[in-house]
Amino acid sequence: MSDVQTPSPADSGVVIVTGASRGIGKAVAQRLTAAGYPLALVARSADTLSGLAEDLGGNVKAYPADISDWDAVQQVVASVQEDFGAIYGLVNNAGMTRDGLFVRMTPEQWQAPLDVNLNGTFFFMRAVASLMMRARQGRIVNISSVIGLTGNSGQANYAASKAGIIALTKSVAKELGGRNVNCNAVAPGFINTEMTADLPANIRDAMLAQIPLKRLGEGNDVAGVVEFLLSPAAAYITGQTLVVDGGMIL
Ligand code: NAP
Repeated sequence: MSDVQTPSPADSGVVIVTGASRGIGKAVAQRLTAAGYPLALVARSADTLSGLAEDLGGNVKAYPADISDWDAVQQVVASVQEDFGAIYGLVNNAGMTRDGLFVRMTPEQWQAPLDVNLNGTFFFMRAVASLMMRARQGRIVNISSVIGLTGNSGQANYAASKAGIIALTKSVAKELGGRNVNCNAVAPGFINTEMTADLPANIRDAMLAQIPLKRLGEGNDVAGVVEFLLSPAAAYITGQTLVVDGGMIL
């Protein structure tokens, strides 16, 4: 038996969820609110975010910000701490793609997903780490991608950002574990959101054919795993990457 007690969601402290305005992040926000967590939602679209916070009810507040801006991230974390007190969890979910063939990729195109996906994840982790270490409690969940494990033609920039998140997760798990702060990654496969909505039908069908569970994932499939990683049941898991892809990359 572990002698480390994890409090109930309502008493645990707030969970910050980035990219909460739609897709996987919204599903995570809905699921965590239902589980009883106080939430701090982050994304750039201020109106959508505050509308969602209102709809969710409970103890949920919106903090509109661009996660690729270090000063903005520090400001968000300071405000969350002021509004809620202890920060229990951080779900680094916000992300973007800027696809293109590698041989034609411009430095700007290369940089864009790194700025948002990798830097944004680092900025939030860096801003909460010392608070969690001091509290001797914290759970960080970083949303990577199966593309960070396998690579993908046309997504060298995105793949590098998502592989970077996995290496960052393992390193931080090693550094923060001694202070009871767990840090894990989730690698979704093909999830039905705006990010994947524009894929041509033939590519969608080809991907579907590779999925043993014979369906695309839904935001809630990822949200359930995030909830698990924040829960007492996952207290002894750190530095891992949980693949949520219906078996696609087996
Ligand atoms: P999505 O529907 O495009 O949503 C992306 C979210 O990130 C939105 O809430 C967006 O809000 C926010 N965001 C983007 N850039 C931001 C920035 N600079 N600052 C703050 N917020 C920002 O994407 P999704 O499919 O839900 O994906 C969520 C995460 O899962 C991403 O990290 C993605 O890489 C990963 N993932 C998705 C899939 C998939 O198949 N969908 C597969 C593997 C991994 P605003 O536009 O309002 O800022």
